[in-house]
Amino acid sequence: MSPLEQLFDSSGPLSRAAPGYRTRSGQILLAQAIEDTIGSRTILVAEAGTGVGKTFAYLAPLLQTQGKALISTATRHLQDQLFLRDLPRLKSALGVSAQISVLKGRSNYLCLYRLEQHKEEGRFGRREDAQAFTEIVRFASHTTTGDISECVAVSESAAVWAQATSTRENCLGQNCPRVNDCHVMAARKRAAEADIVVVNHHLLCADMALRDEGFGELLPTVDYVVIDEAHALADIATQFFSQSLSTQLLGHLARDSLAIGLQHARDAASWPDLCGAIEKAAAELRLCMPGAALGGGMQANVKPNTQPLTNRRIGWDSLDQASKTRWQEALNAVTDSVIAINQVLEVNASRHLELAQLHALSQEMISRLGMFCEQDSDAPVVRWMESSRYALTLHITPYDIRDKFQQEIVKHQRAWIFVSATLAIGGSFAHFLERLGLEEARTLIAPSPFDFQAQGLLLVPEKLPDPKAPNLITQLLDQPEIADLINTVGGGIFILCTSHRSVGHARDWMGRWVIEHPDRRLLVQGEIPRHQLIEEFRAHGNAILIGSHSFWEGVDVPGDALVMVLIDKLPFAPPDDPILEARARWLERQGRDAFTSIQLPEAAIQLKQGVGRLIRSESDRGLVVIGDRRLADTPYGRRIIRSLPDFKRTRCVEEAKVWLKALARV
Ligand code: SF4
Repeated sequence: MSPLEQLFDSSGPLSRAAPGYRTRSGQILLAQAIEDTIGSRTILVAEAGTGVGKTFAYLAPLLQTQGKALISTATRHLQDQLFLRDLPRLKSALGVSAQISVLKGRSNYLCLYRLEQHKEEGRFGRREDAQAFTEIVRFASHTTTGDISECVAVSESAAVWAQATSTRENCLGQNCPRVNDCHVMAARKRAAEADIVVVNHHLLCADMALRDEGFGELLPTVDYVVIDEAHALADIATQFFSQSLSTQLLGHLARDSLAIGLQHARDAASWPDLCGAIEKAAAELRLCMPGAALGGGMQANVKPNTQPLTNRRIGWDSLDQASKTRWQEALNAVTDSVIAINQVLEVNASRHLELAQLHALSQEMISRLGMFCEQDSDAPVVRWMESSRYALTLHITPYDIRDKFQQEIVKHQRAWIFVSATLAIGGSFAHFLERLGLEEARTLIAPSPFDFQAQGLLLVPEKLPDPKAPNLITQLLDQPEIADLINTVGGGIFILCTSHRSVGHARDWMGRWVIEHPDRRLLVQGEIPRHQLIEEFRAHGNAILIGSHSFWEGVDVPGDALVMVLIDKLPFAPPDDPILEARARWLERQGRDAFTSIQLPEAAIQLKQGVGRLIRSESDRGLVVIGDRRLADTPYGRRIIRSLPDFKRTRCVEEAKVWLKALARV
């Protein structure tokens, strides 16, 4: 036995780190490849099937190696899991003393300066915000890390955190009177001193894109980078290599300038007029978005920037000439209003630190607006606009990130390890490698130890509605055989939808169904926080959870609490998505087919994630139902099937029912 095999043997030290530990050949294969990559400082791209134990496979070699390592995960939740659970367990099992640290984005740490400012002002529109703020002040008095996830009394998503955390735009950095006890600075210092730092992809990309003061300092010091959940990296990197400007940020500039201008330079200008002009121009800009709530122009009695918008994304190139002119006029008005305040802030910047800060912010906004308005149409970027509920954001996004990524990779001779349960399509990594420009990397598939043929059944029913039907999920659930199947399931069910609209339709249908089945609990995305939904789903044992994209991955429910996954249709990205459109046009200019090069592989990876929710341990059994006949009836659908776990397949609902009944008897 090699030292590595001894380490991963069922009687070896790792068995002390996890209850029920057993030797898995896929795990040893992966760990060996990672150890080799660390030694040679090269690049490895590895797919680890469900159940391989990829976390231990990279942590064990890293903990036994000299040098500094950075581990990046897709979410903050996974970061906490690694830092609080996996790394300490493994450290103690291996008897090593490596210093570990976790680093999150600045919005995850309390900002003592802003907290104090708002404590003095003490103005809150709603009583619950004032109460939450009091809890935050209490938390600030005893926390040692300032990590807001430790403040149990206030939800991490509470809006009031904006008054107690910083952004890169409003942080005073080295000029801050609280810099010596600043939690953001302290977390960065701990990260700089640690042997292993756990970050998330957003932070890693911010570091690469030098998107924050103090960033860009982490990667150069690192010898090994492990990117877990690597399938999510390209989209996050694309977002970070973008330049963006939102009406929300314009609103912050206006409101902060008004408050700070009146406080420290009241005589300098008519602050209400200057700031009101920005708010008005921003509100007019929002109204350029097709479908904006107010239509036409501003209404006199409407408070600017507060009317809800619908979620929408639209590319500049898809606008007709008249719309472009309208947008351009609105953008000019925004630029003029920001230039006007910038000039006043410049003259008065020396009167107070925060005026100087606001001057820098307005300067940066002018530059981003200029970039957006004057973009060369041949540049390899897409200009697009996005509306969310209360903001409109302008983006300039590169559709090819390979060069930017390559620059980072060749900068330092270090090991890069990309690992995920879903990277390959039909055994090929081509799509992933091409998107990040990693064609030279070594690739590996570490097979799952699960017996998918025995553990799972994939049903694509013979009789299915048109996959393009707007109410597909309702039509699917209306079929008596499918409803019968749901009645047969003894354990929990996930209904994974491809859109929020489908979530609504499924909720309406299942809402009626649970009235007749009062022992079943219905849990719907958005009704309570995500982690709470998942906890309740696990605890209930036979609940039904309905969710869209965020539930397709990162959810682990072993056992009978989840025995059926129902997916409405193939998760193709909307073809009119501006970034997708731009990438498609770019590929077509190279004579390539956008559907097979982008949409198909990306849908295959997402479907693989969704289907992967079902079997999470050797003893799990279950059924996946996919309500999209294209999966069985088209050549590309059959290609996608080959990427999924190798379940037994059927098109017969009756056979699936028999399978479910047999599960109930086991
Ligand atoms: S340095 Fe920035 S984050 Fe830290 S306390 Fe000051 S303003 Fe807040």
